[in-house]
Amino acid sequence: MDIRTLERMGVKESTQALNSLRLETVGSFLGIQLPVKGMARCPLPNHDDGTPSFEIRQEGRRWVCYACNLSGGAIDFVMAYHNTDFMTAKAWLMSKCGYAIRGNKRHPSGTRILGAKPRPQPTEKNVEIHESAPDSELYQELLRQSPLRKSGLEYLQSRGISNPTIDRFAIGQMPSTSVAHQLVREFGFARVKSSGLLTKNSTPNWYLSILPPDAVLFPYIEGGEITYFQSRGLVDTDKSNRWRNLNHRRMRIYNIDILTNPTVNRLAICEGVLDAISSAQMGCEAIGLIGASAPLSRQNMISLRGKHVEILLDWDNAGENRATALRKELSQFGVSATRRLAPRSGAKDVNDYLREGHTSL
Ligand SMILES: [Zn+2]
Repeated sequence: MDIRTLERMGVKESTQALNSLRLETVGSFLGIQLPVKGMARCPLPNHDDGTPSFEIRQEGRRWVCYACNLSGGAIDFVMAYHNTDFMTAKAWLMSKCGYAIRGNKRHPSGTRILGAKPRPQPTEKNVEIHESAPDSELYQELLRQSPLRKSGLEYLQSRGISNPTIDRFAIGQMPSTSVAHQLVREFGFARVKSSGLLTKNSTPNWYLSILPPDAVLFPYIEGGEITYFQSRGLVDTDKSNRWRNLNHRRMRIYNIDILTNPTVNRLAICEGVLDAISSAQMGCEAIGLIGASAPLSRQNMISLRGKHVEILLDWDNAGENRATALRKELSQFGVSATRRLAPRSGAKDVNDYLREGHTSL
């Protein structure tokens, strides 16, 4: 198969993936409320719709306006709403997802699709402290095999996380059966092991995924590529399975791409994935720090200059101490950050605050 065909295939697949986003999600990107399904007044700017002539159908992924005589999926809606061309609408949607969706089919190894970086070879240059570069291709395949199911959705709903937020952050769920076998078959044991997905004691003859079955799966995305995973068990009392990290991989900052997004002027620093997601859902874009092992780098701090930075670490002693230290550290880089006072409700973290029913921060 020649490269041209593959390029076309890559573009087509990414188009399909973007165009099947829920309209509810697209609405949240555009700052308008679209219903999950059914009839509504047409939200398109040029249509002053007196009676509902707009319908959302097919599990919230297709729309039609019977008066405008327009219809389609997510990209088509952005085209109609922004009155722009296909490529511009697609690029806009992709930037909002913060995630270069590669489509549903993995491309054959050794070939490239348009826009996909070749997997970095472990040369001197990109080795980070005895660590090979993140295996984004393998991570992408894991996420593809790990769609969110009912139990995971219910868990996220119990934390107040909305469907558009789930879509935006590409949250998945580990399959009930081990995916490790499948990945080892496809990528080989050595590669799966070095990706950090296997337990420490794993050998080619006996291996186990470090991320447990059924846990909700949070991809970390940097520059449109998955670079890390964390998983969260569904059962609060099962402490050992609550939060799991990859084995022997450097912890990263969650949602770090937002730091370099020029359209984001206000940004929160949160503790952990769920708080960062909760903050974003309440309209304040955020990064999530995980423990002390993922500090902000010099470059991270510099990219915060000129932005309105809020520190939304947990409202407990550890969080307050860390906030004080972080403010000092940031000020050395010319970043003035404000520490949000604890909510009077007694919420201990941002996700608590979201679950109290707040819709903005
Ligand atoms: Zn219309």
